Amino acid sequence: MSAPDAPVSPAVCVEHGERQTFCGLAGIVWLHRKMRDSFFLVIGSRTCAHLLQAAAGVMIFAEPRFATAVLQERDLAGLADCNEELDRVVTALLERRPDIGVLFLIASCPSEVIKLDLDTAAARLSAARQGRPRILAYSGSGLDTRFTQGEDTCLAALVPWLPPLETGRSLLVVGALADVVEDQFCRLFGQLDIGPVHFLPPRRVAELPPVGPGTLAVAAQPFVGDTMAALAARGATLVPAPFPFGGEGTRAWFAAAADAWGVAPQRVAAVLEGPAERAARGLERYRALLAGKRISFLPDTQLEIPLGRFLHRECGMELVELGVPYLDRRMLAPELELLPASARLVEGQDLDAQLDRLHADRPDLTVCGLGLANPLEAAGLTTKWSIELVFSPVHGFDQAADLAELFARPLLRRERLLFER
Ligand code: SF4
Repeated sequence: MSAPDAPVSPAVCVEHGERQTFCGLAGIVWLHRKMRDSFFLVIGSRTCAHLLQAAAGVMIFAEPRFATAVLQERDLAGLADCNEELDRVVTALLERRPDIGVLFLIASCPSEVIKLDLDTAAARLSAARQGRPRILAYSGSGLDTRFTQGEDTCLAALVPWLPPLETGRSLLVVGALADVVEDQFCRLFGQLDIGPVHFLPPRRVAELPPVGPGTLAVAAQPFVGDTMAALAARGATLVPAPFPFGGEGTRAWFAAAADAWGVAPQRVAAVLEGPAERAARGLERYRALLAGKRISFLPDTQLEIPLGRFLHRECGMELVELGVPYLDRRMLAPELELLPASARLVEGQDLDAQLDRLHADRPDLTVCGLGLANPLEAAGLTTKWSIELVFSPVHGFDQAADLAELFARPLLRRERLLFER
């Protein structure tokens, strides 16, 4: 591995203008799979229903665990009592689905515009049923959330309901992870003698993890800043760390948690040595393909900074532009220190200006949302859908090569197409 550029945090440019990214409703797609006793009811418009159907329409053969209560013109015009309508819909749903452990009511742009107070409605509906099931509200509205931020608002809504950790201590990993990754992480924490380890979100909401002054909370995703702040308010100690992407990031993440737990550095080195070496070996093949290639990220998932760090430091890619929907320095400070000063870091979006820069830069690979990929491909740019990075298991040592492969694949495809011409 060649030495990466000197790690000096790059300057940040802030842009305001037209944005192109999903709203926070998109989080339902992975959250409903993760929390198997949950149900997500969006109080929204036909647009919200279409987004969910298009993004998560794979539930054809199963009882779906998400739905949209579509606000009609009478609701929007203030002619109907939306709370009565909501009570009726929720009652019908719970009669049909007694298996629901927690019901999330999700605010959308239209429900926010008509100022429907879903927090109060959720408290009223939950109290009327003695908390069985628990009914909570959060916002996935495009007015105030971007894409992965919907997970943050959902998890933050759960924090007040976490049971208190009365005695002892525990480690809480925050941010949805694939089950296979959670299992790998549990094994490594076990070898480090760290435990009990809990995850938020849990696989079943009926088993919410405890929190209190004995909790060490470490984020596995960069977009859970408000959830981490809410955990700190419940007494948890937050562990700052780079995120567990790639061998280096995963090692630093485990080392930070182990250090906070009080594990001896020699023990940490002994446990992490083997997995880190395996990750580095797995990356060799992809490094040969990716090294020296130039990459730009358009702002979408909030994963742009840790993934850019991984691609630069472990795969040798040159970072042209890293766009992020918003820069949460509470979460990203340890990552920013690892970025090269040469990277152009842009917070927010002004789509036209960003596309102009992209066409001038002509990077080898552009990571962008679904809506931009086809026109950019037609303009001769090679693209990667950012949404795949959210849906694929990419955290941890054992997934480092798979993560690199996600970026190598479109480059190989482009080479093949050029060769066949
Ligand atoms: S919440 Fe807003 S941005 Fe999201 S799908 Fe509904 S209307 Fe569109």
